[in-house]
Amino acid sequence: MSLGEFDLIRHFFDRPELRSSRPDVLGIGDDCALLSVPQGMQLAQSLDTLVSGVHFPERCDPFLLGYRALATNISDIAAMGAEPHSFTLGLTLPESDTDWLQAFSDGLVALAQPSGLALIGGDTTRGPLTISIQVQGLVPSGQALRRNGAGTGDLIYVSGSLGDAAGALPAVLEGLYPQSCDEESVQYLLQRYYQPSPRVKLGQWLAANGATSALDISDGLLGDLGHTLKASQVGAELNLEQLPLSPQLLNVAGKQKAQSYALSGGDDYELCFTWPAHKTLELPEVIRAECSVTCIGYITDAEGICDKATGQPLSSAAYRHF
Ligand code: ADP
Ligand code: MG
Repeated sequence: MSLGEFDLIRHFFDRPELRSSRPDVLGIGDDCALLSVPQGMQLAQSLDTLVSGVHFPERCDPFLLGYRALATNISDIAAMGAEPHSFTLGLTLPESDTDWLQAFSDGLVALAQPSGLALIGGDTTRGPLTISIQVQGLVPSGQALRRNGAGTGDLIYVSGSLGDAAGALPAVLEGLYPQSCDEESVQYLLQRYYQPSPRVKLGQWLAANGATSALDISDGLLGDLGHTLKASQVGAELNLEQLPLSPQLLNVAGKQKAQSYALSGGDDYELCFTWPAHKTLELPEVIRAECSVTCIGYITDAEGICDKATGQPLSSAAYRHF
């Protein structure tokens, strides 16, 4: 059945899993949502837009689309060290039907519920499929992880493994890897592409325990780390042998390509953060159970990023293999 604008809004309004349980929040239904920022907290806010055919394949599974759209937004909240609070949804749809909408909102629910995120409003229009999500988080005042705090000598860490989503691209765009590829590994990479795990607990812990900077890697390590270096007016030396590569990516792509995906592939949504060298980094068990962190280098007072082994500059262009 095809749906009108009213049915679409009604659909989101009627999903209790997406409603806020906070007494100080007014959600969908009025001209604006209302939310309170508790004393001593700041509101962290971020907006991301995904356009069909640009940011995801045109015939994308609606469940995965909903999941991924929300995950990429939550990742920005995680990168600031904030706690997810609520989101709004701008939905532009060509023709939508009940099944599409149900699967799409199931994808939102699958991540919103465990993240404690409520859908508090949005806008619905007709047009080429586009999804805009604005997400809000709360962070103790002054504690947010900024990009401008990295200092010379700080250690550079990344969470999880890098390059998996880039490794999935041939399967995402063209359907399949050659049959010789290990099917289980390809499935793992596809899951990493469609269902990234925003590192919310890690971000909050880092903000509370003295990390000096953080961002989430959405456009490749070299490019994104470059943003931190620019904002902090420092440089970096990386040990490429330390890059965390999943066995599945190594299986499918081999070491050389895996390394280049890790350096310049996008869509990882892992955190890259800096940590003072004199402080031991001891993550609590609940966070270690979710993801590992790996030291991949340190901050220098030179300019740009260089390879520790060769002393040569590293540029993302040199590692762009796709
Ligand atoms: P208005 O015309 O005043 O902008 P709308 O008819 O667009 O109101 O929306 C009615 C209510 O439904 C508002 O509270 C709005 O935030 C909510 N809403 C509209 N579209 C969406 C959506 N895609 N997701 C969540 N809430 C939505
Ligand atoms: Mg409106």
